[in-house]
Amino acid sequence: MRKPFVAANWKMNKTVEQGRGLVADMLPELRTLPQVEQVLCPPYTSIVPISAMLVGTKIGIGAQNMHWEAQGAYTGEISPGMVKEFCQYVIIGHSERRQYYAENDDMVNKKVQAALVNELIPIVCVGETLVENEAGRTSEVVGRQVCDGLKGIPAHRAASLVIAYEPVWAIGTGRAATGDGANQVLARIIRPALSGLFGTQNAQAIRILYGGSVTAANAAEFFLQSEIDGALVGGASLKTAEFVKIVEIAAG
Ligand code: PEP
Repeated sequence: MRKPFVAANWKMNKTVEQGRGLVADMLPELRTLPQVEQVLCPPYTSIVPISAMLVGTKIGIGAQNMHWEAQGAYTGEISPGMVKEFCQYVIIGHSERRQYYAENDDMVNKKVQAALVNELIPIVCVGETLVENEAGRTSEVVGRQVCDGLKGIPAHRAASLVIAYEPVWAIGTGRAATGDGANQVLARIIRPALSGLFGTQNAQAIRILYGGSVTAANAAEFFLQSEIDGALVGGASLKTAEFVKIVEIAAG
């Protein structure tokens, strides 16, 4: 049994004051649902104040990105050690990072390795674009992202990984995948690729999320699927009632 997992990706939204207000609104409900592993990923500026609000709860905090190097002349970047001071999780390889900042599978791999060395749980995002989907290349693209992004990770560390299947055409578009369609990608492409890397038993322990226009209205369709262990939620994580409902649905 894999524990249900719901992560909130706030992206570049919310000042500290706004973020604190959002968490204050959600926290009374969220803290009653410890059966779901919950993670909030605010912008860097809010990590410290939000993490202070989560003390004494089982709700985790994550960064939305990080560099793989420990320190140095990388203006604008943040290191794994800095993230680790306040976070337990880090999102790696989000499609917006791949699209706007030219992140590739090699960089994703370095970041995943650095996360594990620093005992951070990486939430590794994979997913095909609309063009790739329509060209019938989902299997090739997603399979490559998993294999190249996770190469060299020792099998005994596999259970620490969280994978998020986020078809790019579904992110922020209001056009979610179907539950069955997403489940097929997990069952036919992602889980087999993980088995190839880590062995079947280790691969079974890895949580795989769906992400892309998840809302309170469609969450059940995803959480009922055999391979989908939860969601990475963008837009709906900025709305108290929506996000609380999604976590409640994940709790079953
Ligand atoms: C995301 O940012 O990872 C995401 C899935 O966004 P949205 O839920 O808004 O599609």
